[in-house]
Amino acid sequence: MGIRLTGGRVFKDNALLPMDFEMHSGEDISFSLNNAVVLPGFVDVHVHLREPGFFHKETILQGTLAAARGGYRAVCSMPNLDPAPDCLAGLEKQLEIIRRDAKVKVVPYGTITKGRTGGGVLADMEELAPYVCGFSDDGTGVQSEALMEEAMLEAKRLGKMIVAHCEDMSLIPKGGAIHDGSFAREHGIPGIPSASEYEPIRRDLELVRKTGCSYHVCHVSCKESVELIRRAKKEGLDVTCETGPHYLLLCQDDLEDDGRFKMNPPLRDKEDRQALLAGLLDGTIDMIATDHAPHAANEKDKGLRGSVMGIVGLETAFPLLYTHLVKKGIMPLEMLVEKMALAPARRFNMEADFQSNFTVWDLEHLEKIDADKFLSKGRSMPFGGWPVYGKCLMTVVDGKVVYREGANE
Ligand SMILES: [Zn+2]
Repeated sequence: MGIRLTGGRVFKDNALLPMDFEMHSGEDISFSLNNAVVLPGFVDVHVHLREPGFFHKETILQGTLAAARGGYRAVCSMPNLDPAPDCLAGLEKQLEIIRRDAKVKVVPYGTITKGRTGGGVLADMEELAPYVCGFSDDGTGVQSEALMEEAMLEAKRLGKMIVAHCEDMSLIPKGGAIHDGSFAREHGIPGIPSASEYEPIRRDLELVRKTGCSYHVCHVSCKESVELIRRAKKEGLDVTCETGPHYLLLCQDDLEDDGRFKMNPPLRDKEDRQALLAGLLDGTIDMIATDHAPHAANEKDKGLRGSVMGIVGLETAFPLLYTHLVKKGIMPLEMLVEKMALAPARRFNMEADFQSNFTVWDLEHLEKIDADKFLSKGRSMPFGGWPVYGKCLMTVVDGKVVYREGANE
């Protein structure tokens, strides 16, 4: 009983070794895979599944199918939903859909504030705490320092993390759409300055020092943020952070006036991209999260000015990063596994038994990224047509095959 793979290599003791053990599954599957590797299932701590409230953009069913195909065994779902998970009643609908439809493990966030407005009063954090992976107002920054301090004290009391979308709205001009840099100036598009990200991070790190709260920074995009977090870690503060594949592989030089290039925070300068890579390599950036943010086609076809923010990423993250970081010699595969699977699982208390939670990839397979083949409802992302190595053959969650190549197409 179980999955017998002959040939191939398996991730063991933080290295890839010849396959020498049987993976556990309720199904009997046996195949030989000379090019395949068996890796721990990935964990994405920043995913928008859009249900309840916005199923025209994505559903928990399709979003988690996309996750399974991307090699993910677990995702954390962001709270910009309707109703917002700012109390147990607001969370209940999402939990119900997760129980019914989710193909991989989904652990929701609770909001920091009532209505996820980034202001006003705190959410019912205590009643949410047993059901959530942490508290976030993702999509909106908490604007008031006093309110963030209150949130951190409450999160600390409850033994939960604050997971911060850092964005100071007072520093962003109306209609801010892309990085406040050369492309924005040349095309007369209102720019989003890096300070709107790193100033709230600076503020929050002070509050972490004061409160002792566990703190995680979402989608770090600029060099100043990396440096602030590097220093905070040296000091011993309980801080981690993530960045996304797009910030590691693209910058404002790659922009086209197309909604596929619009996300928040925006693609920044070449120097920022390099600083993110350096931060990833030296451990300042703990993990990679996709910020998978699907939208309907007619919300993304209005250029950089008129489109909404957000791109999809679950089905492309590993092949893109394997191709552009591992195959190019920037980092070993073991480090990419750390950033996509092990580190997020440790930080978010989502560790799982490897032999029942793994993903199998053919790393020799070369294919151009084609959004029309996505299992996600979202199609908009800037990597269409990019040739990438790596095809997911199978993903297993708690011993159950949740994705098998060819079975969902
Ligand atoms: Zn965000």
